[in-house]
Amino acid sequence: MSSRYAHKKLAEAGNATRNIHFGVEPDPVTGSILPPIYQTATYAQEAVGVNKGHTYSRSSNPTVATLEKKLAGIEYAAGAIAFATGLAATTALIMSLMKAGEHIVCSDVVFGGTVRLVDTVFNKFGISISYVDAADPANIAAAIQENTTLIFLETPANPTLKLNDIAAISQIARAKNIPLVVDNTFLTGILQRPLELGADIVLYSTTKYIDGHNATVGGALLANDKKYLEAFDYMRKNIGNIQAPMNAWLTMQGIKTLDLRIKQHSRNAQQVAEFLEAHPQVSKVYYPGLVSFAQQELAASQHRGYHGGMLAFEVVGGYAHALHVMNTVVLCTLAESLGATETIITHPASMTHVMMAAEQRAKIGVTDGLIRFSVGLEDPEDIIADLEQALNWSA
Ligand code: PLP
Repeated sequence: MSSRYAHKKLAEAGNATRNIHFGVEPDPVTGSILPPIYQTATYAQEAVGVNKGHTYSRSSNPTVATLEKKLAGIEYAAGAIAFATGLAATTALIMSLMKAGEHIVCSDVVFGGTVRLVDTVFNKFGISISYVDAADPANIAAAIQENTTLIFLETPANPTLKLNDIAAISQIARAKNIPLVVDNTFLTGILQRPLELGADIVLYSTTKYIDGHNATVGGALLANDKKYLEAFDYMRKNIGNIQAPMNAWLTMQGIKTLDLRIKQHSRNAQQVAEFLEAHPQVSKVYYPGLVSFAQQELAASQHRGYHGGMLAFEVVGGYAHALHVMNTVVLCTLAESLGATETIITHPASMTHVMMAAEQRAKIGVTDGLIRFSVGLEDPEDIIADLEQALNWSA
């Protein structure tokens, strides 16, 4: 962006313009249109206590700081703090805001790694958690205890796309003065703005749509309130989980096409979801853009025109058929992760949610026949043709 394009104008520009230009200007020394990668551990100081704003790359780094400006731009947030991974962000979140003896209320369908982190790591440090069906906000209110100091939602949820009403739950959180965090990894600020809906903090795995090219792992916490941003920054310095400059630079290249990509991911997903819904070997499809989606009304009011690139479907024939599909696709990649140009197919029961007890999996709809599908940016006809041949199965 030329410095002739006033910052004020950029603040009012559309998402596509903002994502390309927000937080960056041509390098004042060379004119390089892309910001440099500051691949450095430390910074020469002019005199004791006199520096140019950075002292050591565990605390801060100019490339990471540029990424943070761009991330804040996506969510219209006051600021962002970038971490080495999404789970590093979750770790910093809990360590910043909680102490031993306190309790989290969490939506029951969440990324399996979040469950494992709290159940097997933070439990050892005296933090407890209740998983509740947050599709009904009353369940959140009922689960709040005297020692609850965090409410954590993931919406749409991984892997069944269950939604939580952020505005309604934020009122419950505000009344009790408990910070509300929303993992917005699936939609990003392009398609859902939790802070505008009343949440206090947004969490990202930037590994997914924000990077969008399967090139990096990363995470971020975003907020409007400076007290949170300062707390996350301080914790990151202490536990040493900042994002690497090279990853930050690659991630900011991804952000430039985020608006374009996530809308096309959504269009492709809609087409794939409609194909799957009509297929005789598929018993259920979860996609918020389908008329059959249980929370379609909430999807229409909470999402900004599109519903993202993630869907899940259940095959007739359970585990055996699901494994057949996983092992027979040729264009789609069998892998963990999601949100990138390549279509990725995952079997939650044996992969991302394998650490969850079978009864708990069944309770939240993660059945043995459920397949999670991250619809990529290939031609949708090619994705559908691949699924069609893989679904050709008999018990
Ligand atoms: N949140 C969601 C919704 C995820 O899907 C993931 C990873 O799959 C994470 C958080 C954790 O992110 P990362 O893998 O970057 O640590």
